[in-house]
Amino acid sequence: MKFKEFGIKKDILNAIRKAGYEEATPIQEKSIPVIMEGHDMIGLAQTGTGKTAAFALPILNSIEYRKKPRVRALILAPTRELAIQTFENFKKYGRYIDLRTVCLYGGAKKGNQISHLKRGADIIIATPGRLLDLQNEGFVKLDQVEYFVLDEADRMLDMGFIPDIRNINAMLPENRQMIMFSATMERAVENLAMEMLTNPVRIQVAAQNNAADTVDQKLIFTEGANKDIILTTFLKKEINSEENRALPRKERKNAIVFTRTKRGADRLNKALKQHGLMSVAIHGDKSQGQRKDALDRFRSGQVSILVATDVAARGLDIPKLNYVFNYDLPEESDNYVHRIGRTGRAGESGVAYTLCCEDELGLLYEIEKLIGKEIPETETKWSISLERKKKPSFDPHKNRRGRGGYKGNNNRRNNKDGKARHSHDSRKPHKERKNFKKEEQSNQKFTKNKNNGNKKPAIKFSRKLNERKQNL
Ligand code: ADP
Ligand code: MG
Repeated sequence: MKFKEFGIKKDILNAIRKAGYEEATPIQEKSIPVIMEGHDMIGLAQTGTGKTAAFALPILNSIEYRKKPRVRALILAPTRELAIQTFENFKKYGRYIDLRTVCLYGGAKKGNQISHLKRGADIIIATPGRLLDLQNEGFVKLDQVEYFVLDEADRMLDMGFIPDIRNINAMLPENRQMIMFSATMERAVENLAMEMLTNPVRIQVAAQNNAADTVDQKLIFTEGANKDIILTTFLKKEINSEENRALPRKERKNAIVFTRTKRGADRLNKALKQHGLMSVAIHGDKSQGQRKDALDRFRSGQVSILVATDVAARGLDIPKLNYVFNYDLPEESDNYVHRIGRTGRAGESGVAYTLCCEDELGLLYEIEKLIGKEIPETETKWSISLERKKKPSFDPHKNRRGRGGYKGNNNRRNNKDGKARHSHDSRKPHKERKNFKKEEQSNQKFTKNKNNGNKKPAIKFSRKLNERKQNL
């Protein structure tokens, strides 16, 4: 579908053309009219399918210019980098219209953000903590907000953020339009979302909880001790080759390597350097300046390897990213989908390798349960034979502090005989999951369940805020 068929203003259509988009993506095609009609909505579509423009375009289209700006759209994102990226997107689509967009995020001096606010804001894109700080200090007024957007909504509604979100929500006019987007959404979190939404339209494109089909997913079973050699061998061949380095920066192949902890990221970054590989690290212990610098250098192609914690798992759009490596499996299975979704965006192709050792089989089980399929295995010189769990025999989040925590049955088999490494029929999709998916294949209109309206759903949060902060 062409953008002009939505009835979008000419100035915005021109900006879309300048961005090089020809047709709306499926999630845009379905959400833009719903938002324009004024409905609350929840939009679920795979990573890299243009969810940002799906909410940015109708919002930019409907907010009227005012001589004295008032905040009429508030967009919240879970990380500083994502807030900044969304801000850049609003700038791009709004380049020919006269609206003021301000971005507020932590780790940066308040002064600059305050002076922007003083000049007036029509749209605020923010991380919740800094927004609340500046609101408390009297620099932000939210009583005229018409649009309230939670990007990465399931993350915004989890334990770490929900108190802030509730606080912020309470400051908004009751009739504000609420819009949520994500690539993943657990049922319990969706129930919580329903508490905040009024008669929302639910839009889902393709199967829930997965990255785009353009991500080629591969699993490598190996000893934990061999992960470094697998990774460095691959990176030396693919990234550090003379051929790759001879290419112009923007065309060089590149990779993001995800680790579970900040310390793990620093250690690995150092190890890669010792192997002669140029890499930069991004995680929560770095200053905002260092985080920005790392991402800028990676985006520009100056450095082709980014070592990251899950602080970089969600939302970041790095066009033409070739490889994602899960050096460690993520503790939260939804982050698997988001991590690998950094590649294969906007129709490009990409490969995501997951290195899994025996201690991580419980986490693998959770991930494959979430995505509803087995990640295909691929062989390396350092592969070993491991058998997938049929049922998790432990809480995968319990022993999250290290890979040594879980001592399960010794399933490790020697692979010398080259036998099949696991039985492919080991696990059928969970029956409930299947029904759940089927029931939600089409768009549905939801009405707030009156019986549940006031009840807090029992949500099993996988992690506490302070633990996440420590790890990322
Ligand atoms: P998501 O939020 O779904 O993960 P993004 O909004 O970050 O995805 O968009 C992914 C990429 O797709 C971005 O680089 C964006 O510029 C591009 N994009 C968005 N809409 C379109 C479109 N209609 N046609 C082509 N590319 C698009
Ligand atoms: Mg996004």
